[in-house]
Amino acid sequence: MHRATADNERCRPRRSAGHCEHGRSRGCPATHDASDPLGGQPLCPDCYDYPAHILWHAHAGRLWKAFTDNLYNHLAARTGRTRTGLRRSVRISYAKVAEYQKRAAVHVHAVVRLDGATGPSDPPPVWVSAEDLSAAVRTAAAAVHLHTPYAWGLGEHGLRWGSELDARPLRAFGGNEGLADDAIAAYVAKYVTKGAAETAIGLDRPITSPDDIATGRLSAHVRTLIRTCWRLGGLSELDPLRLRAWSHTLGYRGHILTKSRVYSTTYAALRAERAQHQRNTVVPDLADVPSTVTETHWRYVGSGHAPGAALIAAGIAEDLAQTRQLFAEARREEGEWSR
Ligand SMILES: [Zn+2]
Ligand SMILES: [Zn+2]
Repeated sequence: MHRATADNERCRPRRSAGHCEHGRSRGCPATHDASDPLGGQPLCPDCYDYPAHILWHAHAGRLWKAFTDNLYNHLAARTGRTRTGLRRSVRISYAKVAEYQKRAAVHVHAVVRLDGATGPSDPPPVWVSAEDLSAAVRTAAAAVHLHTPYAWGLGEHGLRWGSELDARPLRAFGGNEGLADDAIAAYVAKYVTKGAAETAIGLDRPITSPDDIATGRLSAHVRTLIRTCWRLGGLSELDPLRLRAWSHTLGYRGHILTKSRVYSTTYAALRAERAQHQRNTVVPDLADVPSTVTETHWRYVGSGHAPGAALIAAGIAEDLAQTRQLFAEARREEGEWSR
């Protein structure tokens, strides 16, 4: 893929990259900034594995499930417990957000939280640390290997998480009480606005005929992804994936934000809590945060405040300003592509 970078890095500076069978270079010495429509497009559309991209999206839910299943096993092995013993002593919960990257692939951000057996009011046992959890997240994700159902003419694809995996402990600032729920919610909130249509990656409604794909305002790459999704949706072996119904999201069927049961009040509560922060701390006004996506998919449990929460909230305001700018750029690009 062509890479858009903020710091003028070269895209794919391979000296002896050579050419693919379609005569296209396997390297790219150029630099692409965020406004360059080439960023996130494949070096060679004929070499790019479009079916694999769609099939990965269509199985993202299973990949996540396999990861969370593994997580208890890996944490048990790491702390020298049995899985059953571990499950009696700790509860793992998460909030996750799926974000479309520029290359139109879904990327998952998740906050994984470890508590004692009865939940957030119960501290985790002393024999398991945040580092143990981070390490278990890494190994549990790396151990996920799934296969797509065999389809005639398509074969069977192996599926796993990508190599770009980053796991690190989140902590409250200046306290050992763990990160406050509102800080966790805030961390997650910054990705909530990035749905498929919002980032100009997919379309905002289901596709009913191939004509929709031809007329939509899309980059060549996304158009090919949607067309591939629609075409694969015609294979009876792949019926359970409902690829035609989900062509507009490039095969991805998940919510943009999902969470386990522990995170469950409303976004309004988060706002109210932020208003309360402002009495004691300087927090930028977040009133103009787009709320269309968040109101339906966003659930979170409010609790006390930690200084860290205000700092993270301040970071979010900056991120959102940047995100809005990216949206504007994406719209302009869209305009260019559709001409
Ligand atoms: Zn390039
Ligand atoms: Zn090629």
